[in-house]
Amino acid sequence: MTRQALLSRTLLLDLETTRTGRIRHVGAVLGDTVFEKKAPAHGQKTLARLDALADRADFILGHNLLGHDFPVLAAAHAHLRMLQKPVIDTLYLSPLAFPENPYHHLVKDYKLVRASVNDPVAAARLAAAVFTDQWERFDTIGAKNPRQLDFFRFCFSGTRFNGFSGDGLAAVFARLGASGMASPLAAQTWFLDATDGIVCLPAAIRQLPELLADAARRPMLAYCLAWLQVAGSNSVLPPWVRHRFPGIPSVLRELRDLACQDPACRYCRQSHDPDGHLTRFFGFSAFRPQPADAKGRSLQREIVVSGMRDEPLLAILPTGGGKSLCFQLPAWCGIGAGDCSPSSSAPFRP
Ligand SMILES: [Zn+2]
Repeated sequence: MTRQALLSRTLLLDLETTRTGRIRHVGAVLGDTVFEKKAPAHGQKTLARLDALADRADFILGHNLLGHDFPVLAAAHAHLRMLQKPVIDTLYLSPLAFPENPYHHLVKDYKLVRASVNDPVAAARLAAAVFTDQWERFDTIGAKNPRQLDFFRFCFSGTRFNGFSGDGLAAVFARLGASGMASPLAAQTWFLDATDGIVCLPAAIRQLPELLADAARRPMLAYCLAWLQVAGSNSVLPPWVRHRFPGIPSVLRELRDLACQDPACRYCRQSHDPDGHLTRFFGFSAFRPQPADAKGRSLQREIVVSGMRDEPLLAILPTGGGKSLCFQLPAWCGIGAGDCSPSSSAPFRP
């Protein structure tokens, strides 16, 4: 199915609410039909009319529907039929389509960049414009790597967000031609292949079976994957993703920040190699042998290793002992999940 055909059968929706969550302005578009109601005096009647319009749609599309509009609608009228429809939430798709920074020019973290806050019809149409760009990006991704869309479809099938089905998100990938994954094991095999050399292999093998077996946690892996593919550039995981999926920072920390001892792990041997980084960044062939610790090991090297593991450490060295390198080298390595690390999680309030 083409994007146009899908959108022609999709209700575009935006609600504006008061701070207390009361609906004050409703905007919706389905094909040529525009629905707009301001400060509905008879809220239930308006919602019933909106629900009747939504009966004609296959999907409901909007930005942050799962986190905002649907919970608000459910609180106003729990038995709306539209609440059972598959949802295409452009907020959820954005970090998958545009994991690099800056994000899509129409999306700023969890909000649409919009000219007017009092025009929900325009906002609903804006979400459709964002979706159009997302669709095109996914189409490009799928042309290069169709299994990635299969993985995304698998990650969102059978999930629920705030009690609402995530199947609309899986359906987007299905409409793009994705077939999903035959099993969690097939998904694991593909993930390990796709992240070869960019994550710690033993950590991935340890974490994946449990995460992939749990439909509620699979979406985290979709966001982790999208982020991992651009990690090392200016990519940042949007605060709302960390807020909605609080398990992600610890997953990424295990995959990227903690060095394993397996000599076969290509990622750890390259990313957590203090001696290699010393040569690469400073041109020295070895750390200073003195001062040494009680076991005769270079204190400078032990401090750097500790810093690369992100461990808190108080180091006291004499003047000329090479202190600057002790903090500069771990910083240069730029290891880890950067903005994703739990310690740097900015407070987020939707
Ligand atoms: Zn490793």
